[in-house]
Amino acid sequence: MNRAGRAGARAALVVAVVLGAALVVVIAVRAPWVVLPEPPGGHTPVDPASVLPPDVRMRAESFAAALRPASLLSLLLSLGVSALLGLTRLGARVVTAAAAPLGGKWPVQVLLGVPALLVLGRLVTLPIAAYAEVIRHRYGLSTRSWGLWARDVAVSTAISALVTAFALLSFLWLVRRLPRTWWAWSALAAAGFVVVASFLYPLVIEPAFNTFESLPASQLRTDLLALADESGVPVSDVLVSDASRRTTALNAYVSGFGSTRRIVVYDTVLEQLPDAEIESIVAHELGHVVHRDVLTGTLVGALGAAAATALLGWLLAWTPLLRRAGADAPGDPRVVALLLFLLAAGGLLATPVQNLVSRQVEAHADLFALDLTRDPDAFISMQRRLAGTNLSDPDPPAAWQWFFGSHPTAAQRVAFAHDWEKLNRS
Ligand SMILES: [Zn+2]
Repeated sequence: MNRAGRAGARAALVVAVVLGAALVVVIAVRAPWVVLPEPPGGHTPVDPASVLPPDVRMRAESFAAALRPASLLSLLLSLGVSALLGLTRLGARVVTAAAAPLGGKWPVQVLLGVPALLVLGRLVTLPIAAYAEVIRHRYGLSTRSWGLWARDVAVSTAISALVTAFALLSFLWLVRRLPRTWWAWSALAAAGFVVVASFLYPLVIEPAFNTFESLPASQLRTDLLALADESGVPVSDVLVSDASRRTTALNAYVSGFGSTRRIVVYDTVLEQLPDAEIESIVAHELGHVVHRDVLTGTLVGALGAAAATALLGWLLAWTPLLRRAGADAPGDPRVVALLLFLLAAGGLLATPVQNLVSRQVEAHADLFALDLTRDPDAFISMQRRLAGTNLSDPDPPAAWQWFFGSHPTAAQRVAFAHDWEKLNRS
């Protein structure tokens, strides 16, 4: 590499480190690290045995025991395949072969090569995904027909292949167009992409899997809209999603921005939960809106994407790595298999950090729900019902919870509500 190239790579590394530091600062400042002070008499002990009746608890544990090794195997296998394709010339060969019938110009190589690589990765883990679906059927958690399962797999693979192919096409266009400064421009583009995707997600992705109907006029609808008003969150509608086509799991969320913001409740929730518990779930979701958690998440995601892209500016200047992947230069379309591997590895490394922040954010929303509804009994029975119906293990292995746990465990959330009760008893 020439001197200018080396200087450019060093600048990319410096920018990546600065953006990474900014990311740490934003997380440290925006994440709610302490959510509840210690109540008089100390924190309520977290007792997993108290959350679920013994028979349900055993079911939840055996469900987790059947599914956890499969999830782990699927994760390792897809990372392994991605490494095999990205760190050998195999991926480059797939890209060249996919584009060969259409002339093999570089945009064609990206647009056909990326989907080919992603479909290959999906096929390898497909048997494990099918096994997991069998387990979810066996435990009564999935209500999907196999036809619907196949459609879901196809649609989500197609969406991710399409989005990734066009993202990498724009990336390579920048690399080829601006050989010295591409990493700076694509870091900006990556940040912008995260922001746009976060706005488009509820409008494009949600309707691809579910249909939504307005909750007809009822006491519950009035109460939910009043709850939203009280928390200062204008909501245009309460929608019911047809989640029962796929699952028995219970959930609700708030999505959209400004005038499109709406509360979405799974139809399973309406069927099974008393109104006070539905209000508790929705109050938690309103907490996310009031705390601007989507905005923070988007900001953190945008900074992370920019930092990771700048880091690519340094990594792709490393000729032995490119050669290993069968590419001649960063702008060579055969580099996409390497990019997909780096993306997968980066995503895996980011998971425990994301979940560490997520657990704090969720506890903060729980606090908001308790403050708004002032009904810890409904909150606790809702947590129990959710854990029982979703078969969440109330006491997962600590390492598992640390890495994969996006929410506090059900036992921790129940103890949290007891703490709140102690602090607000008078
Ligand atoms: Zn939440």
